Amino acid sequence: MILIKNIQTLDGELIDKVIESNEHCEIDGAGLILLPAAIDPHVHFRSPGQEYKENWISGAQACVHGGYTHVFDMPNNVPACSTAERLKDKVALIEQQLKEADIPLRYSLYFGADRKTLDQIPLVKDEIIGVKIFMGSSTGDLLMDKEEDLRKAFEICGKHDILVAVHAEDECMIKQRMHEFQDQKNFRVHSQIRSPEVAEKAVKQAISLAKEYGTRLYILHVSTINELNLIREAKQAGVKVYAEACPHHLFMTEEALDTLGAKAQMNPPLRSPEHQAALWQALHDGTIDCMGSDHAPHSLEEKSKPYGQAPSGVPNMDTNLPLLLNAYNEGRLSLARIVELTRTRAQQIFRLADNEDWTLVDLNRAQKVEETKLYTRCGWSPYAGWELKGWPAYTVLKGRVFKR
Ligand SMILES: [Zn+2]
Repeated sequence: MILIKNIQTLDGELIDKVIESNEHCEIDGAGLILLPAAIDPHVHFRSPGQEYKENWISGAQACVHGGYTHVFDMPNNVPACSTAERLKDKVALIEQQLKEADIPLRYSLYFGADRKTLDQIPLVKDEIIGVKIFMGSSTGDLLMDKEEDLRKAFEICGKHDILVAVHAEDECMIKQRMHEFQDQKNFRVHSQIRSPEVAEKAVKQAISLAKEYGTRLYILHVSTINELNLIREAKQAGVKVYAEACPHHLFMTEEALDTLGAKAQMNPPLRSPEHQAALWQALHDGTIDCMGSDHAPHSLEEKSKPYGQAPSGVPNMDTNLPLLLNAYNEGRLSLARIVELTRTRAQQIFRLADNEDWTLVDLNRAQKVEETKLYTRCGWSPYAGWELKGWPAYTVLKGRVFKR
């Protein structure tokens, strides 16, 4: 049994919290707040194939020290997780790594939509959290940019009540704009190539397909005003569409590309302050349902390459909750909203059972983000040096206690 004494609940009440466990431990909860442990519906833990960037040992450590006990992993691995057999192999690999880490992390997997293996989707439907569609190319070789392939995928998933998660950037526009801006080598051009219109076009197409086939649609990493308007409209019209925001779009703008270069390069890219303000507004009015981190680590060596060669993606797991708790301390978000964004909406949308996983946070702890203290294997953070107030102190996962 785990006994947490004098812990404050979300409602401000002081309680002694008892959690069933084989472990016997008592935690002094004085000064801490009890929050349901966070769920991250969007991570890239890089296994199989790119374990030098991350694996489920370092990834799971980043989770339990960062207040997270459940992640949904993306299928753009090497090889891509787009067949029933590869899915089975990936599960075996994850189980092995989590055993080695001695962390019983909860995880769910996305199946990658690939035009050649769409017929395998119904076979794996009970083993996956959803189907991931890359409408525009990003890291890895999964790409579905033909209307007829997209139709087929939305139709299959609609018919079998499988959620579709989209990386919504229009591939044709990306290619055109890459050509247009090919002489520019400044990282800032990344936000121009993958412009707001690139995202808008793909989101429009995805919503229209979801409507046509009755497919449940989760739009990953929403970052622009027009995407938000389309999503708001679709929600009002009764389309089953849900939206995710990522920390980098909420806490950085495209200016960061000038100072951080590749370390601020991700897809979709950082935007202007106007888009960022709209995203915050959408976080408050419920247009955004979930916080997903899009934790997408790459090695420092890869990130030191020039524009065009450096891969897109940034690590987030270590800093997700501190960034949100710091926003709470700045009066920008309530704790209740943080819980909705990091837990309850994901449980509803992805139909997850409730559990007794908890995070005990210290809202008064102020600490700099130090790269040497990160758990992610890639060893760097775009937020390095940021002083954040509000950090997880303990995480309880399946009756196990992890202290930060
Ligand atoms: Zn992603």
